[in-house]
Amino acid sequence: MKPRVVIVGAGFGGLTCARSLIDGGATDVTVVDRHPYQLFAPLLYQVATGGLPEDDIAYPVRAAIPGLKFVRGEVVNVNPERHSLRLADGTVIEWEYLVLAMGSVGATFGIPGVAEHALQMKDISQARAIKNRLLSTYEQVEMGHKPKEALRVVVVGGGPTGVEVTGAVAELQKQMVREFPDLAPLAHVTLVEAGPRLLPSFSEKSSARAKKALEALGADVRVSAAVDRMYATDVHLTSGEVLPAGTIIWGAGVAAPEQWTSLGMSDRANRLIVDDRLHLTPDVWVIGDMAHVTGPEDRPLPMVASVAMQQGRYVAASIGAALSGGEVAPFRYKDKGQMATIGRRLAVVEMPNGMRLHGTPAWLAWLALHVFYLAGGRNRVSVIADWFWNYLAWGTGPRRTVLE
Ligand SMILES: Cc1cc2nc3c(=O)[nH]c(=O)nc-3n(C[C@H](O)[C@H](O)[C@H](O)COP(=O)(O)OP(=O)(O)OC[C@H]3O[C@@H](n4cnc5c(N)ncnc54)[C@H](O)[C@@H]3O)c2cc1C
Repeated sequence: MKPRVVIVGAGFGGLTCARSLIDGGATDVTVVDRHPYQLFAPLLYQVATGGLPEDDIAYPVRAAIPGLKFVRGEVVNVNPERHSLRLADGTVIEWEYLVLAMGSVGATFGIPGVAEHALQMKDISQARAIKNRLLSTYEQVEMGHKPKEALRVVVVGGGPTGVEVTGAVAELQKQMVREFPDLAPLAHVTLVEAGPRLLPSFSEKSSARAKKALEALGADVRVSAAVDRMYATDVHLTSGEVLPAGTIIWGAGVAAPEQWTSLGMSDRANRLIVDDRLHLTPDVWVIGDMAHVTGPEDRPLPMVASVAMQQGRYVAASIGAALSGGEVAPFRYKDKGQMATIGRRLAVVEMPNGMRLHGTPAWLAWLALHVFYLAGGRNRVSVIADWFWNYLAWGTGPRRTVLE
């Protein structure tokens, strides 16, 4: 009988691992996830700002890989000694080999008010909540249910997520002039970053370009500005300044889910520390955002999709080798570069060979790569069609909301 491999998490890491295993034809593979779809998180900000409909960035797991066994459920317990895991509904699943790829959650760093008042952007329901708040606020201000200050948006965190969502919010606020000509000029977005520059993992030149481009879109960018606490209607900085806000979007950091730290040694971001072959135990591997693996200069690898995918492929090879009594060489990450989009036709791209792109060429590269990695032909076609339409008919994206 073939040994059973169970993979928890149908994200970038988990599904890449499952696909490689099934392509190799070696094992009985089951993927468990609380959601029945694979989420393309890099485009969540487009859903959150009314640029793309939700279904464009979610692809059904069962359709993704023919031959895959999929179990929908929330894993609440993993028992490495007994080789079993338990779902929230009490179902117990046994395995010979286990791959943990449960991703990450928004980290609040214990800052008062963040958990209660900031909107996170890690899954579809959170992106939907942001879109709903951004759009329904116009109606509520128009009806006199909220003050005009509610049209102000504060985004916290100057990494790629914060930069991308700030650019998209600034563009959305401009587009709203068609629907709310009196209110649109009152809307405003501020990006707050604790460090001295935006996009800290990029070069200083790219950081400066991103800041300039956001300011040209009308956004207010505050660097060296740390959040002290927040309330439903304002964000307090450590400098004492208070920023009024009807919508607060949190893009300041992520951490692995805390509940799994009991499985082994973990770092400050709750990532499980694995060996150089990604093992937690001889039969359990951890990959993607929830794994702490050191890269060059002994720094942990970043929480990005390409790390998770390369690790997924590596673990599939590792399981294949284990089945044939062999062993694989330690995992080595191949840096694929980094990119962030700032708005329509604006992006920054940095390649590992030192090549840098910005402006329209960078945006076209960003667009091509994101369309290439989207799962499902229908999604690719509809994303291209939706973008093309948004481009032509500037300001008429998917807008349906419910009043909060
Ligand atoms: C807004 C945003 C933008 C991003 N942009 C980029 C980008 O442009 N480029 C880039 O490289 N990276 C980007 N990332 C990061 C990238 O999405 C992650 O690094 C990547 O998804 C990590 O892959 P993973 O397999 O570890 O986890 P994920 O892809 O997050 O998958 C984890 C899966 O585990 C499931 N799960 C979690 N806990 C349980 C449980 N207890 N029971 C059952 N299922 C569970 C989840 O439902 C999910 O499907 C972005 C992330 C976000 C949030």
